[in-house]
Amino acid sequence: MVVVMKPDAEADDVNAVIARVEAAGGEAFVSRGVTRTIIGLVGDVETFSGLNLRAMPGVADVMRVSAPYKLVSRIHHPEMTTVFVGGVPIGPDTFTLIAGPCAVETPQQTLEAAQMAQAAGATLLRGGAYKPRTSPYAFQGLGEEGLRILANVREATGLPIVTEIVDAHDVDLVASYADMLQVGTRNMANFALLQAVGQSGKPVMLKRGMQATVEEWLMAAEYIAQRGNLDIVLCERGIRTFERATRNTLDISAVPVVHALSHLPIIVDPSHSGGRRDLVVPLSRAAIAVGADGLIVDVHPHPEQALCDGPQALVDEDLRALAAAVRQLPPLLGRRPAAPVPA
Ligand code: PEP
Ligand code: MN
Repeated sequence: MVVVMKPDAEADDVNAVIARVEAAGGEAFVSRGVTRTIIGLVGDVETFSGLNLRAMPGVADVMRVSAPYKLVSRIHHPEMTTVFVGGVPIGPDTFTLIAGPCAVETPQQTLEAAQMAQAAGATLLRGGAYKPRTSPYAFQGLGEEGLRILANVREATGLPIVTEIVDAHDVDLVASYADMLQVGTRNMANFALLQAVGQSGKPVMLKRGMQATVEEWLMAAEYIAQRGNLDIVLCERGIRTFERATRNTLDISAVPVVHALSHLPIIVDPSHSGGRRDLVVPLSRAAIAVGADGLIVDVHPHPEQALCDGPQALVDEDLRALAAAVRQLPPLLGRRPAAPVPA
């Protein structure tokens, strides 16, 4: 059940609802949006129905929810959310390019990749310091040393950083460097990690599990939201199908499907879905056309030497094509490039 407060509800009104719910043995999770506060109730619905919450001061509506997610649903939050990452918006009015190396390898490689990304119009830098690799023998990332390199490159370029977190115990450490925490496809259903990033105070990019349905993905986002963090950006990165021509199949329809179900922004990762450099620009164009709020792409100054995912990393020539697409296509759909908002 969800209690939607009126835009002018007072803090005391919210507290009174929470107190009544808790006194009845329920749990109340408060989500404070820009315009209104929503309280998600966990517990016995029949008990809540008898509490007459609708009559309480400041309450606009009380709803039973059939969808298994509430806080991330558009039903109670029709206006689309804009998430700010180090001042850079990701949302319905803009188009945000995130680019950088798959993995942070050296200071030089990370700086060069960041400069390539910036020249192509990226306003956020990606780069993994903790790499969740399918093989235990593959490069696992530089760990905290990688975070330090990212922080130095942010200093040099001004690009806020998006970096992956793979272990709930590392949240404080990674959050002390990162502007946005990335939860990867292999961890989408790591509920302890989702709860930890939900308490981190940092925006979160939640990639779709490669075997997850859209509903399971939104429930994963709900775990983060339930801990009070609604600064969530979803990322479609391809799903497993029978097709072997590509690493994964980009589920392009997930973008409008998610936009209809959730107020959260959704971006597309054409690099990890196709797994092939030659597909990144065409898939990017498709993502823009279908209404994605941004892209996250792999870039490497020397892909042939990359320790991770070289075959999908863009080099200068492809980046020029990507930059043109990102400059020209979003304005046709009423979006402007996502520039940082001055503090
Ligand atoms: C990544 O973005 O570096 C990554 C590992 O992606 P995914 O989780 O989508 O495989
Ligand atoms: Mn990768």
